[in-house]
Amino acid sequence: MSATILDGTKIAHQIRSEVAAEVRAMAAAGVRPGLAVVLVGHNPASEIYVRGKVKACEEIGVYSETHTHPDSATTDDLLALVDDLNRRDPINGILVQLPLPPQVDAKKVLMAVDPAKDVDGFHPVNVGFLSTQRPGLVPCTPAGVIEILRRSRIPIAGQEAVVVGRSDIVGKPVAMLLLNANATVTVCHSKTRDLSEVCRRADILVAAIGRAGMITRDFVKPGATVIDVGMNKVTDPVEFARLFAGNSKREETFQLKGSTLVGDVHPEVAEVAGAITPVPGGVGPLTIAMLMFNTVKAAKLHRGDLVRELSRA
Ligand code: NAP
Repeated sequence: MSATILDGTKIAHQIRSEVAAEVRAMAAAGVRPGLAVVLVGHNPASEIYVRGKVKACEEIGVYSETHTHPDSATTDDLLALVDDLNRRDPINGILVQLPLPPQVDAKKVLMAVDPAKDVDGFHPVNVGFLSTQRPGLVPCTPAGVIEILRRSRIPIAGQEAVVVGRSDIVGKPVAMLLLNANATVTVCHSKTRDLSEVCRRADILVAAIGRAGMITRDFVKPGATVIDVGMNKVTDPVEFARLFAGNSKREETFQLKGSTLVGDVHPEVAEVAGAITPVPGGVGPLTIAMLMFNTVKAAKLHRGDLVRELSRA
């Protein structure tokens, strides 16, 4: 039996339409949410991501501005920029595109972003809000994972959820969101013993590892929901054959482009899982949709409101 495909592109489109409607309502009241994107250096992947974010703003009606700095930018340069953006009223959201060059203290820069404008949800204040179930800004990709589950009517409460990966930007916040939604959560990492056995307990298995096709069918309980956060570019023909042998559509793309995008979950898992997110077209599109959602949410919160909400909660 083949798994139900959880169509992230369609879900992202729904969310973007809802956010666009909110932006129109805000515009009628004379308010326009604004996002500032900070891009340092010439990382081709970062440039593509930033273009996608700016395009989404245009489509939804959010004001955006991109601040580019050369590869040689210093921590002080970026702190000065963030300080300026923190003070400017038309800017509701600040996104510092990662990775930053090695000479920049990325943690210091991210810490400097006003938590009320931290649309990536990486600031320790927002991490604290999430872990104490208070209103705040939630990291976009993890929030997207929950939207896929909710909008696909996959129950979370009481389910066994296993998250493979414990990064601050994906694994940990996904685990916290699942816990807040009353799943019983296990977080795995590179030191986890008997990983496949732990994963096989999962009703909901989330893979956020960064290793092409690592989760094979023997990691998956039949009927489980599998959410594949991984985005890995495969260029090695041997690796390609391990993942996609016999898939003529993929073979065609691979021949043409010399690479293909694959998740952390082996495509064979679709034969055992109950539901699965594809790569591409699964979690990926949700990230930008949730960034738009967060920018509008930040615009609705006046500066300092998060702190006031915390003191009332
Ligand atoms: P990361 O910071 O490199 O974290 C990877 C995690 O996987 C770590 O916790 C690591 O364990 C664990 N891990 C690595 N090898 C493992 C193994 N053999 N067995 C068990 N665990 C292992 O990566 P990330 O930033 O969380 O990203 C994960 C993936 O999601 C990447 O493919 C990335 O491209 C993708 N991603 C996609 C989106 C999107 O929009 N769809 C957004 C962000 C990230 P340790 O902690 O022990 O090292």
